[in-house]
Amino acid sequence: MNELPQWMKHLGERASAPDFERWRQMVTNVGGCTHPIRLAGESTTVDPATGEVLGTYNTRDEPTGYILTACGNRRASRCEPCSRVYADDIFHLIHSGLVSECPRVFTTFTAPSFGPVHTRVLVGDRVRPCHPRDTGPSCRLRHSSDDPRLGQAIDSDSYDYTGAVLWNHHAGKLWHTFTVYLRRHLAELVGVPRSRLGDVLRVEYAKVAEYQARGLVHFHAVIRLDGPFGVDVLTEAITSATLATRVSLPDRSLRWGAQLDIRPIETGGHWTDQRVARYIAKYATKGAEAAGTVNRPLRNIRHLERIRGLTPHARRMIEHCWQLGLRDWAHMLGYGGHFSTKSRRYSATLGAMRAARARHRLDEARAHEGLPPLPPGPLARVGSWQVIGTGYRTLAEETWAETIRSA
Ligand SMILES: [Zn+2]
Ligand SMILES: [Zn+2]
Repeated sequence: MNELPQWMKHLGERASAPDFERWRQMVTNVGGCTHPIRLAGESTTVDPATGEVLGTYNTRDEPTGYILTACGNRRASRCEPCSRVYADDIFHLIHSGLVSECPRVFTTFTAPSFGPVHTRVLVGDRVRPCHPRDTGPSCRLRHSSDDPRLGQAIDSDSYDYTGAVLWNHHAGKLWHTFTVYLRRHLAELVGVPRSRLGDVLRVEYAKVAEYQARGLVHFHAVIRLDGPFGVDVLTEAITSATLATRVSLPDRSLRWGAQLDIRPIETGGHWTDQRVARYIAKYATKGAEAAGTVNRPLRNIRHLERIRGLTPHARRMIEHCWQLGLRDWAHMLGYGGHFSTKSRRYSATLGAMRAARARHRLDEARAHEGLPPLPPGPLARVGSWQVIGTGYRTLAEETWAETIRSA
């Protein structure tokens, strides 16, 4: 008789362990997270109004001795199941801010050029030659859509890598400056002093950052004008504010690229509420690795040698970050800002959405035990927790988690 392969034996052993059923439930609860965090500790839930203890929980009572929590990573390359939850949250966040009778636009802000890069431009269904120039670097190839050269510098010796990584690094500041100018230009357009703008209109936004193939960040933003003005006023103010925006560094001045795209969001139009929210949610889960870089911080520049799949272009950007002292952001090609931000009154916050979901799970768990739902209002949870590890402990657990995920 043939011996069972070792890995199958391990799978069987894991499944017949006494804690397996509870463990399986925990994996389901974290949505199949690929790198869950193992926590040990205890917590007490208290109704802050009455001081009544609603429940206590201690991982000592768990068959596993610990509890799993989801890693919550927004990037699909790090944790696919958690990134899906994140994308869902972003969708609802963007969408809930769109349901409104006010003028709204979907805008893409790009970076300027730091030198020619390989591009693929279609005219009809024909691909145009990449960069046919008389002077300077040129490339006459008609690139295929999966050509790994796309986005890479045509002449890496003349490409302004310093400018590119500095731009990425200050992109968040550029955005902030833009929002200040936007309010200023709106005030001028509608003819009220800046200090009185709040009396006639409000401008709210939500934005996400995305990496282009050339490793530069661009922003997709939903901008909403709450007030008695049309979409033309909003469009004009965005355009002039974008042109006026500058961030001054000691030896250079940063601005937006010339490619500014402003589309009205309207029912029946191309960019409907749903489509914009879906589009933004999709990009919110991509990280810098989409531009051919690495997905975690570098501790040593010599580690670059060992990274597979790193494009020469991304590599040059990382090296320039390192030289400029932007080491913590080198793997992000200089960008250190947030991936999704919104103005305070755009819509619900991610935090509020997560709290609502956590409460819903608590109520579900209580219903399971035959307990009534928690009282409305904030709950106080007092606890002390300790991280005892991350990820699954064995290959057998990983395999089981994969099975549970796809079930
Ligand atoms: Zn996860
Ligand atoms: Zn080319």
